[in-house]
Amino acid sequence: MAFKTLDDLSDLAGKRVLVRVDLNVPMDGGRVTDTTRIERVLPTIRELSEKGAKVVLLAHFGRPKGERVAEMSLAPVAPAVADLLGKPVAFANDCIGPAAADAIAALPDGGVLLLENTRYHKGEEKNDPEFAKALAANGDIYVNDAFSAAHRAHGSTEGIAKLLPAYAGRTMQAELEALGSALGEPVRPVLAVVGGAKVSSKIDLLENLVSKVDMLVIGGGMANTFLAAKGVDVGKSLCEHDLADTARKIMVAAEAANCEIVLPDDAIVAKEFKAGADNETVSLDAIPADGMILDVGKASITTVKSKIDAARTLVWNGPLGAFEIAPFDIATVAAAQHAAENTKAGKLNSVAGGGDTVAALNHAGAADSFSYVSTAGGAFLEWLEGKELPGVKALEG
Ligand code: AMP
Repeated sequence: MAFKTLDDLSDLAGKRVLVRVDLNVPMDGGRVTDTTRIERVLPTIRELSEKGAKVVLLAHFGRPKGERVAEMSLAPVAPAVADLLGKPVAFANDCIGPAAADAIAALPDGGVLLLENTRYHKGEEKNDPEFAKALAANGDIYVNDAFSAAHRAHGSTEGIAKLLPAYAGRTMQAELEALGSALGEPVRPVLAVVGGAKVSSKIDLLENLVSKVDMLVIGGGMANTFLAAKGVDVGKSLCEHDLADTARKIMVAAEAANCEIVLPDDAIVAKEFKAGADNETVSLDAIPADGMILDVGKASITTVKSKIDAARTLVWNGPLGAFEIAPFDIATVAAAQHAAENTKAGKLNSVAGGGDTVAALNHAGAADSFSYVSTAGGAFLEWLEGKELPGVKALEG
């Protein structure tokens, strides 16, 4: 990947560096309730500040759709960033124009300033060149540290990158390097584990993965659609019967690409979708007509573990069962812990993300041991789908 990083920057003293960050943090009554996103961008802010740059943060918050919606102001986020950074963070009540320019002019070298919500302007989501120009007017250098917003071609993620010398921040760099190591130029064999509720939300993702990976484990509710397409009677399980042809097409494409698709060997079924529901492990030819598959069974867990052992690289998205309701979390937890152990032993490069995956890996106590867990959501999924991310493409330009 041909993007420049902070290593390529020198002589930053007094330079105005516009840094696109993700500060779309959960808030409750003006208080930030989860600081994960803030913590992720601290290394870039610190590094630029220590090198004497005027660090000017650009971010969106919520969906104000081009209006100044008071509840979507970034003002309460500035003190939260300051707390974690351990130094003051100034705030300007507009991201363009005199309010921004004056606040930047007043900023000392090494100082940090947060500009108001970029989405207060319609030009942001429209990627209006005039808006991008107004943003760029306040900076000498552009740094993008918001991979999670890189699937959107917006003024502050794409338009501006064409107007100023553009660099990847440390978090963006780490994300791109991790993703590159998993699907760009991976050490083979590569295993993808894909679970979750529905095939319909992951068709593009599955089509892309079968063309890139050596083995694809399909679990969760979406496996039912594949099993049904192969003639298994899945009873009352979540199943998109209308997608049987799509599932078959994916299986044919996998075969042509030499990708082994691994479906469950057995299932844990229950009559109710609730924690502690009575359940039994059954073989695929014995799923009761009134039963729902809520997890894969022991035999499937053994198979998944053996595929993890056979792999040098793992890409994971989606749980293998209804992990939020015990005991239907067993397969997800067992597989995640196994991948974590192999990673710790230096045998596996493991990259995971998207949707409920982070919650599932946290639940398994495995997230910290994976090589990389992306919290980027939509951007991570689009990357798994093989799509070009405009915010990343603009850095390569
Ligand atoms: P996704 O956001 O597509 O990754 O889907 C995650 C959701 O899939 C979780 O809420 C799981 O409870 C759900 N899920 C996984 N396996 C099953 C299953 N066998 N039946 C119903 N829901 C499931």
